[in-house]
Amino acid sequence: MQTPILILGAGPAGGAVALGLIRLGYQVVIIGQPRPFDAVEGISERVVEGLKGAGFKRALQAIREPSARNATWNGASNSANTERLINRRVLDAGIWQDLLEAGVSCIDARISKVQHTEAGVEVTVQYPDEGATQTLQGAFLVEARGRAAPSAGLKRFRGSETVSLLQYWQGPATPAQSAAVSFEDGWAWFAMTEQGKRYLQLTFDVATANLPPKAALGHFCTERLLQIPQAAPFMADAKPVGEPHARTSTPILCEEAVGDRWIRVGDAAMAVDPLSGNGIFQAMSSALQAPAVINTLLKSPQNAELAKQFHQSRVTALFYRFARIGRDFYRMEEQWQNRSFWHTRHHWPDDQPMHVATTFDQFEVKTMPVVQSGEIKAVDVVVTPDQPLGIWHLGGIELAPVVSAVKNRQPGESIQGAIARLKLEPPQERSILSWIRSLGSN
Ligand SMILES: Cc1cc2nc3c(=O)[nH]c(=O)nc-3n(C[C@H](O)[C@H](O)[C@H](O)COP(=O)(O)OP(=O)(O)OC[C@H]3O[C@@H](n4cnc5c(N)ncnc54)[C@H](O)[C@@H]3O)c2cc1C
Repeated sequence: MQTPILILGAGPAGGAVALGLIRLGYQVVIIGQPRPFDAVEGISERVVEGLKGAGFKRALQAIREPSARNATWNGASNSANTERLINRRVLDAGIWQDLLEAGVSCIDARISKVQHTEAGVEVTVQYPDEGATQTLQGAFLVEARGRAAPSAGLKRFRGSETVSLLQYWQGPATPAQSAAVSFEDGWAWFAMTEQGKRYLQLTFDVATANLPPKAALGHFCTERLLQIPQAAPFMADAKPVGEPHARTSTPILCEEAVGDRWIRVGDAAMAVDPLSGNGIFQAMSSALQAPAVINTLLKSPQNAELAKQFHQSRVTALFYRFARIGRDFYRMEEQWQNRSFWHTRHHWPDDQPMHVATTFDQFEVKTMPVVQSGEIKAVDVVVTPDQPLGIWHLGGIELAPVVSAVKNRQPGESIQGAIARLKLEPPQERSILSWIRSLGSN
């Protein structure tokens, strides 16, 4: 019998890796426990597409129709947008159901110890009711415990320490809606659903927010919320319920996210600032590429370095991309530039622009790792200052031969002539030509 791959954590990332590995023919055991708190999160259409693409079905039932989203930033309000609200308990229960139906062996237990061995990995789990423990053997380990994943002594890059306080309120049933608002010392996100439950989340800088002791957090949140006019509709006829839940929301990049017999995915590999509303999207991105990386590490060890480079470079690039998007969004808020929360975030992770203007002359053909037939392979791609990981295909056309043909054309030969030699279909030829011309080459 095949030694299984062990996945720790059954959130969107762990779940997506499990489904991908099952499709590649691996035996998979996933160990996870439900989140210990209730949360509603907002997602965009691309997360819905990502979940569909990963093969989730039951999980999709947790996703509501888009609802109104109001944003107040830098003193201006905008209510043109929508987002889809999801109850995370319902989403995660749907993911669990999908995994069972796909033939993944699912263990509802707390992971208490992880040990790497010569043969792979040993994981000790503790069952919730009986308290019994069991040790499982795996050929490979996928760490997908989200922000709860231990750092395991790995090098990590952290942004300013940030905390989000989530206070629950209950009031009469209302149409679902959400709002994002900036304030002097941070930003807030509010959501309410048809059941009248409200999720009021305040995000602060840990070092400078002067947060009170745990027992006083409820009062602190209510007082702060009363000062934010946009919170009023979410508090109307409603009362706080239970204690607020504190969630760390510091951006964290794991600079070593893969080894020969293990990989980190989702928030365990990189966790972004929730301001972007892209957490689940990012978690899915690193998870969707992981099965091919694992397959390569197990089946084609000669390509191990290539596979590791592929995973780490994508995790790192995605982290910085979203960190800079977040920075630019923080910069749009100019009312409190000298307040510590805003000042720090206007300059983190750096001052590099989000996009680098690129001309065709800067394009280079390089051999880089890509996913091909479920494995990581080295192929020729086009690298630009704005796309350092390389572009393999554009609109279904392999780009490296196009760029090579244009760059190496005969003296006096036109770009059109060089492209004609590639014998593309006429519509493809036209679209490639107009793309090259849009980059300033004639
Ligand atoms: C304050 C805040 C607000 C956010 N809002 C949004 C939003 O609006 N939209 C959005 O897209 N993203 C949002 N996110 C991000 C989103 O929650 C995460 O990016 C996403 O859930 C990561 O998925 P994951 O699978 O990597 O980890 P998780 O979803 O965290 O899954 C990890 C799983 O592992 C389990 N686990 C952990 N430790 C153990 C253990 N020892 N034993 C057993 N099981 C364990 C956990 O219970 C959990 O089920 C927010 C994050 C924060 C902090």
